[in-house]
Amino acid sequence: MKLILLKSATLIAAALAIGAPAQAAEPLIDLYKTLHANPELSHMESETSKMLGAELETLGFDVTYEFGSTGTVAVFKNGDGPTVLIRADMDALPVTEATGASYASTKIMEDHNGNMQPVMHACGHDIHMTVFMGTARDLIARKAEWSGTLVMILQPAEELGQGARAMIGAGLFDKFPRPDYNLALHTNSAMPAGTVGYTPGYALANVDSVDITVRGIGGHGAYPNTTKDPIVLAAQLIQGFQTIVSREISPTQPAVVTVGSIHGGTKHNIIGDEVKMQLTLRSYSPEVRQQTLAAIRRMADGMGRAYGLPEDKLPIVIHQDEFTPAAFNNPALSERAANLIAGAIGEKNVIKVDPVMGGEDFGEFGQVEPKIPSFIYWLGAVAPADYAAAKASGATLPSLHSPTFLPDAAPTIDTGVKAMSASALGLFNGQG
Ligand SMILES: [Zn+2]
Ligand SMILES: [Zn+2]
Repeated sequence: MKLILLKSATLIAAALAIGAPAQAAEPLIDLYKTLHANPELSHMESETSKMLGAELETLGFDVTYEFGSTGTVAVFKNGDGPTVLIRADMDALPVTEATGASYASTKIMEDHNGNMQPVMHACGHDIHMTVFMGTARDLIARKAEWSGTLVMILQPAEELGQGARAMIGAGLFDKFPRPDYNLALHTNSAMPAGTVGYTPGYALANVDSVDITVRGIGGHGAYPNTTKDPIVLAAQLIQGFQTIVSREISPTQPAVVTVGSIHGGTKHNIIGDEVKMQLTLRSYSPEVRQQTLAAIRRMADGMGRAYGLPEDKLPIVIHQDEFTPAAFNNPALSERAANLIAGAIGEKNVIKVDPVMGGEDFGEFGQVEPKIPSFIYWLGAVAPADYAAAKASGATLPSLHSPTFLPDAAPTIDTGVKAMSASALGLFNGQG
């Protein structure tokens, strides 16, 4: 563990020495490769945060570390005007990288449970941070062109849906200037580099995790009449859950119920006494979210009773505290920012796209009353040639979280910096 940390600290120190931000900043592509090779798991992004914070300090930001877990808040006051918040997330995933890149991660890190895990920036958060730093450099270099307050935050633990809440809980909107606008972007593994996608209104979904323990009365597989088989009840529950979206929720309202994991039993001829299931639920509106959760509880309870289970053996439904609220893009801000981005990268490269049922805890920053208009958009990350080839052949491109997901870094970062700088500048100057 120590050795690994030392190795990453040395690499980072080397990168800083090359970068020497006080004189000439390290080229963004080199910064990206350093970040990519040195990923850190959720809530453990300390080296990343220190490295980027050091450059933000050099640029003249007031920097606060360890704010809401390993979060970093950097504030640059540049006269009167609006306050614009730009957020990047820092955490990587427990994935073994298989991209074959010369700067691929080989890192192994101890997780919170004491298990050694491979670590990879498989969700593109290294791109987000590089674009973030490029935007910081650009906006400071052009500080004569805008006035207002720039708040730049590096958020931990997005992958757990916990980092945004941790920073808000620590007082992000009380202890620092309260933003008039929140901005963020996310890499997109299905759009070509050079493009930006945006969705006014709900863009990403509410995400809920539910754990169910189906209990029974175990016994011999040859004498089922003396048992209450939890595997059969679990099967009925899974079938029952399929009717929540198809028969209970309005067909015009998006929702997903997925049973992603089911474990029970040990051997052919033993009826066990427990089955465990894990579900992910997706929705946009708070009403559909509550309706789905209530239906799962009702079915677990009602089907358990119908099966003849005693009161003390009914299924246990636990709604995990991992809720990520839907990301709602303020429609007026979305159109305004999309215009500003089009001015920087060309109108044909800014594409309105459908919402998705993925989750992103950036949505949290727009939920705190009084609600701050917020906007998160997609940054195309696929090499244009790969994109064209996949389109022609119908092949599927590696998705986010895949061990082979590798952004076409240079054009992706270049487009991201242009887009983020243009939207922030325009908002400071009342344009768009
Ligand atoms: Zn992710
Ligand atoms: Zn992500």
